[in-house]
Amino acid sequence: MRKLASIRKIDEIRPIEGADAIECAVVGGWTVVVKKGEFKPGDVGVYLEIDSWVPTELAPFLSKGNEPKEYNGVKGERLRTVKLRGQLSQGLLLPVDEVNGTKFITGYFREDGVGSMIIVKEGDDVTEALGIQKWEAPVPAQLAGQVRGNFPTAVPKTDQERIQNLKKEFEEWKAQNLVFEITEKLDGSSCTMYLDLEGDFHVCSRNLDLKRDENNSFWKAAIQNDVENRMVAANLQGLAIQGELVGEGIQGNQYKIRGQKFYVFDIYDTKTGAYLNSEQRIKLCQQLGLEHVPLVSVKAITAEDIAGILQEAEGKSLLNDSEREGLVWKCISDPSISFKTISNRWLLKNKE
Ligand code: AMP
Ligand code: MN
Repeated sequence: MRKLASIRKIDEIRPIEGADAIECAVVGGWTVVVKKGEFKPGDVGVYLEIDSWVPTELAPFLSKGNEPKEYNGVKGERLRTVKLRGQLSQGLLLPVDEVNGTKFITGYFREDGVGSMIIVKEGDDVTEALGIQKWEAPVPAQLAGQVRGNFPTAVPKTDQERIQNLKKEFEEWKAQNLVFEITEKLDGSSCTMYLDLEGDFHVCSRNLDLKRDENNSFWKAAIQNDVENRMVAANLQGLAIQGELVGEGIQGNQYKIRGQKFYVFDIYDTKTGAYLNSEQRIKLCQQLGLEHVPLVSVKAITAEDIAGILQEAEGKSLLNDSEREGLVWKCISDPSISFKTISNRWLLKNKE
């Protein structure tokens, strides 16, 4: 599971102009609004990332006196991107107690009930201990499909880390002048079309291998684009084509696409255990008649800091004139290095 809640050092406390009761805490690449005086630089706290589903018992104030919502049977609230007094705030920072050098969190924890405590140290992942889940939008029926099996083990999943969690790496990659392929991040649903070494064709959602089904949107896209036949004809056994399915019924369809469209962002070769490089990928897409996600630019990191690179994520989509979700940066010389930068403007607008 993704690390959504962890014990982190507070790098910096910054005032908010015109605000007496609140201030900003900076944790890695994240800025979160806190009560004034609650934290000092160098303190450790529990940082919970946006899209954490936070049980009510852990942070009842999130419901602001309203009836808490419910997700997977747990009462609580989702952490969103908000603006407070004009200041962007992302996530939640909770205090860690300390006695004689031992740090601990007290409060409600799923397993132990009220009044329990856990001993922690900087860097600990407390996602599970605190009962935090990753909030995900409900999956529409047309995408769910029927499960054929787990996601193929030979193929990497398509997840991307947020730059806010890669502060140290950001500095290193910048210093090394690494060159990146920057593509637009499309807001749809991840799909992997994979012709295995036995010539068996798989269509997978983000986490599952799906049974062939003409009513399932992922399979529909594979059939409409004739991917299986084209891959077989081109002898592409062992290749996995990974892309984003966007359009009607998917994530609000900000691109106003009729029907659905598949845009490739990666091609992985299970024979070599490596991704095709940008040039090979784009060429193969042309050969197979598949669309590629919009290429925005190829360059090194020029932004001063994480706030700067996040600023670059803001802009219009290249598919229509909607606000783009963000960008994905992939290192040209080392494809194992990649990350996403989500537009804060998009996050503030996108209120489903
Ligand atoms: P998220 O949607 O925030 O979970 O971010 C990771 C996902 O972004 C991946 O699993 C892909 O499905 C999706 N994605 C959309 N556009 C791109 C792109 N241009 N490059 C890589 N991944 C992308
Ligand atoms: Mn997404």
